[in-house]
Amino acid sequence: MAKCPACGHDVRTPFFLNLNAWSQLSCPQCKARLEMKPPRSVVLGPLMGPLFVLARQGRVFEVIAFALMFVTIFLLLLESSRPKLQLRKRPLPKPAIRLNIDGPSN
Ligand SMILES: [Zn+2]
Repeated sequence: MAKCPACGHDVRTPFFLNLNAWSQLSCPQCKARLEMKPPRSVVLGPLMGPLFVLARQGRVFEVIAFALMFVTIFLLLLESSRPKLQLRKRPLPKPAIRLNIDGPSN
């Protein structure tokens, strides 16, 4: 359960891996289109690579790298189980590439 940012009504949130349900999520009370706030712990993800390179330098770095990895995974799971909602600003995602089929041919 999460709170709708527009009206404060409780919104039943789908399982965080169910992206199809997330893409259609809206508030049952005020019909506002909602989406999941990206979890803050995602920013720790890119640190993993360099840490494991550093881990080869010695046992101490190895322990630090593993500890940070478990903390990151734990935080991600924790935030995913209690997702925060925000209003969806874009009405629908637009395709990044438009095919210019009707354009002049060479
Ligand atoms: Zn609402």
